Amino acid sequence: MNVIHELGPGLFDASFRHLSGPGPVDRVLCFDRNNLLWKIVEEGLALPRCHELMGLPEEAEFIFAFTLCDEPCYLYLGLPLPEGNGLKYRDPYLFRSLQPAELAWASLLGLQLSAWYAHHRRCGMCGSVLAHMEDERALYCPGCEAVLYPQIAPAVIVAVTSGQKILLARSSARPGGWYSLISGYVDIGETLEAAVVREVQEEVGLSVHGIRYVVSQPWPLSASLMVGFVAEASEDQEIRVDGNEIAEAAWFTRDRLPDHPPLLGIAGELIERFRNGELC
Ligand SMILES: [Zn+2]
Repeated sequence: MNVIHELGPGLFDASFRHLSGPGPVDRVLCFDRNNLLWKIVEEGLALPRCHELMGLPEEAEFIFAFTLCDEPCYLYLGLPLPEGNGLKYRDPYLFRSLQPAELAWASLLGLQLSAWYAHHRRCGMCGSVLAHMEDERALYCPGCEAVLYPQIAPAVIVAVTSGQKILLARSSARPGGWYSLISGYVDIGETLEAAVVREVQEEVGLSVHGIRYVVSQPWPLSASLMVGFVAEASEDQEIRVDGNEIAEAAWFTRDRLPDHPPLLGIAGELIERFRNGELC
């Protein structure tokens, strides 16, 4: 298993292309809120081709999304289309088991784009209907000339270590769920390092030092860029969980790690690096 966004060359290209598609055989992403419309095929699931869609309005609006395996893929921007004809909506968490990996990644990035376009039909300043820029992935307001780009929220995730131990915490939102790393969004006016210090202090009451950048990962489900760090803390400090976001936290050695996230995401990758002795 690999981290989900690390794909082989030529499999996925997110760069924007100004194409006036889709043609009948081009792939299209249609969402009903968070759920994506899939074509059920012999091998599993595929993005439907435009001619396979049912109930498309005459003036259907599309925008180029990305290139998947050398094929341009488009995002349908209208009201949800019906299921049937071998087409079925599936929820986004399908990505955890979906193969091939580039298809899983495409479904997540498609959801991020779909949500961004859906939330930006009109200008928040003057109310005009926004238009698509032709040369980049952006929206333009003909009323006040504002240009809007997809918003990406930076977030930090940190492997707190003490000697040969790592601090792992269980979220209150997942009773009985796995243990993971401390993470949180970067606040306005805050550096990444300051966000690491604040999040660890808020969630488990520990002071950290020796903060080092390790790796980053785009995470489309929360439209964020996860920036992964390692930081040190003294084990002598008392762990005080906030009781709100975090239910439990404790130190673990690499041979006794509890149930934790898989390698698909950055939390799993950082924990794996700790287990391999790369972080301390
Ligand atoms: Zn405007």
